[in-house]
Amino acid sequence: MGKGGSDGNEGDTGSLEEMMEGTMSIKKFKCPKCGCRRAEEVMVNVTESIVIEGIDEDGYVIYGNSLSDGGVIDRYQCQKCGEVILDEQGRQIASSEHFANHISSMKGKTNIQKRVKK
Ligand SMILES: [Zn+2]
Repeated sequence: MGKGGSDGNEGDTGSLEEMMEGTMSIKKFKCPKCGCRRAEEVMVNVTESIVIEGIDEDGYVIYGNSLSDGGVIDRYQCQKCGEVILDEQGRQIASSEHFANHISSMKGKTNIQKRVKK
């Protein structure tokens, strides 16, 4: 008794990549360290508010949509290993435009081995 609270373990971002599957020219981040294809934007000074739908039978709060307001991008990093993404000059990337440019400019630099067609 008394073990209240959920651990909030709801990392269900998996559907996005599947949606992108088969679409045209989407450039994906690839972590230079671990090869993970997901990056995350880390923001600081964010005010987040979450709609509370009600309380369920067990006494837990049921959350609805969340809204975040304000905030400043601190960095971009690998979702898996936390490797901070730096641009060509070794500067920390701190805007979505910068990040997009960086990923776009990585074209051709990834170590994809060309398969020889028979
Ligand atoms: Zn990584």
